[in-house]
Amino acid sequence: MKIAIDREALRRKYREERDKRLRPDGNEQYIHIEDHFPHYLDDPYTEVQARQAKSDHVTFAFIGGGYAGLVTAARLVEQGVSDVRIVDKAGDFGGTWYWNRYPGAQCDTASLIYMPLLEETGHVPTQNYAHGPEILEHCRRIGRRYGLYDNALFHTRVSAVEWQEEAGVWRIRSDRGDDFTARYIGMGTGPLHMPKLPGVPGIDDFQGHAFHTSRWDYRYTGGDPAGAPLDRLGDKRVALIGTGATAVQCVPHLAGACATFYVCQRTPSSVDARDIRPIDRDWFAAIAEPGWQRRWMENFAANLSGAPVENDLVRDGWTDIPRRFHAGLAQLPEEERKNPARWAEMWEQADFEKMEEIRRRVDAVVQDAQTAARLKAWYGQLCKRPCFHNHYLEAFNRASTVLLDTDGRGVERITPRGVVVGGVEYPVDCIIYATGFEVGTDRLSRTGFEVTGRGGRTLSEHWQQGMRSLHGIHVRNFPNAFLVQPAQGANFIANVPHNIVESAAAIAHTVRHAEASGAARVEVSAAAEEAWVQLIASGTGLTLPNPDCTPGYYNNEGQPLPAEAHSYAGYPMGAVAFFGHLQQWRDSGAFEGLEFGLDASGM
Ligand code: NDP
Repeated sequence: MKIAIDREALRRKYREERDKRLRPDGNEQYIHIEDHFPHYLDDPYTEVQARQAKSDHVTFAFIGGGYAGLVTAARLVEQGVSDVRIVDKAGDFGGTWYWNRYPGAQCDTASLIYMPLLEETGHVPTQNYAHGPEILEHCRRIGRRYGLYDNALFHTRVSAVEWQEEAGVWRIRSDRGDDFTARYIGMGTGPLHMPKLPGVPGIDDFQGHAFHTSRWDYRYTGGDPAGAPLDRLGDKRVALIGTGATAVQCVPHLAGACATFYVCQRTPSSVDARDIRPIDRDWFAAIAEPGWQRRWMENFAANLSGAPVENDLVRDGWTDIPRRFHAGLAQLPEEERKNPARWAEMWEQADFEKMEEIRRRVDAVVQDAQTAARLKAWYGQLCKRPCFHNHYLEAFNRASTVLLDTDGRGVERITPRGVVVGGVEYPVDCIIYATGFEVGTDRLSRTGFEVTGRGGRTLSEHWQQGMRSLHGIHVRNFPNAFLVQPAQGANFIANVPHNIVESAAAIAHTVRHAEASGAARVEVSAAAEEAWVQLIASGTGLTLPNPDCTPGYYNNEGQPLPAEAHSYAGYPMGAVAFFGHLQQWRDSGAFEGLEFGLDASGM
């Protein structure tokens, strides 16, 4: 159905809504959880086990037991490096899926492209969008399949990582008294792992129960991550602060469970419907030709990059706008199809139509017109994390669910008894913070450890003027060290695991080459690092935050970025081109830009 759009009116409305939310304190509006409520970070899921501190040597140590560590370790094992130790502050593998066990936790990206190593482990996801417990179990499956449990250190926070020039090894220390060495080190601590809280006046004074969604307190709420009802909330008044991707998934579970449930909203999420269904085994057997997962990942990435792709394999809410864009483009006269101004116009039109549909869906589902109006999102779909849920909006039809909309201002105050919105105090027994994770804050405060490379120079010092790397993986003066993260690489946030599987393959090939050639040290050359930094800087900024968007962590809360932050952009030619480049680099066997040294002290 063609939707009539008044483009100028919409642009104006989007700007008004954004301006309402802009605030000069940007990221400073949040408080660092460790300074106020360190106990909120305690692990509610697994008891800490006593163990002996480690003082041994391993071939490869990886900090972070989420997908980054698991996939890198798996690829290393495949390349013959079996002596891999993963270290994580959590009580098991899983990373974000270890911590985020809130009711309803589910992957918003199709499970066939989001769950890595499906071919290798033989797992067939039960649904096209897997729930948290299945993804966590898949992480454990990878750990078991590749024998990663024996060497792993859980409930262990790394406190320092230092290169030992003489010995040519990394020294790793932790809060559990470990002091061991590794020939190589990998780091994949994840972009969203330090929970954050809003700096609302009075937050320290609240006398009731409170927790962050990433440390869900099932002892208080009842229920479990598999979806059992939250049966201890029947007589409780609960306030949930935040309406991002996490809130959208847990609201339907809280809505039926609490005596009164307040949803404190600053900015509504765009919540599209989702076609959720079991994965049919016969259908799967037909598509599962060797290499299928890679083809699916590449197809999804190509679709999102805006390239014309004939067959949209995933075909969901993520690829909807590109599909509309290409359909619109195909209707233009041939000579106009390559005009960048027309592209921008078509893209905007596709986005306006999509968002208008999403807003109409709110009217169709939410019975109370005023509530419906408040649940409508007025910004471009990719300004914030797009959400997909078939029951979120319905939750507001329950008499016990109250939307406390703050018209962009946020919760005014927290008192010993409850929350204040619009000058009214709402007494509650419990506050649940669905307020997300630190992004763009000091790297050290998020990871909790410094990395010291050759000559005592730290990573923070090396990156003082901005990030420096080759492929977002190798850093000069940090020999035998590898990063697994998206910046200066594909920066492909719609399917984070795709970045990880490509980086992991590159790292494993590099290590195998170093081992096979008897090199004691592998390091990016100064020239190659500089050339890569220049290449990233030459980009158009397409992968940088969009200041026209409503504030959020996607665009540094709407504040201008410091000059050095631009260095965290992605490959200028886009994610698909980056993946192609990395594969070529690895397949050539030349490891261009890397220096392999025969001893630890020199080349
Ligand atoms: P977000 O940072 O996306 O959301 C935080 C929420 O808290 C926002 O709604 C924000 O409002 C609100 N907030 C902040 N301060 C206040 C305040 N003072 N008063 C009222 N509200 C406030 O965190 P999430 O945990 O929801 O999601 C984080 C990320 O995790 C997602 O973007 C996504 O990448 C990932 N995720 C992925 C899932 C998946 O399917 N794979 C599922 C869930 C999460 P405002 O918007 O105005 O800033």
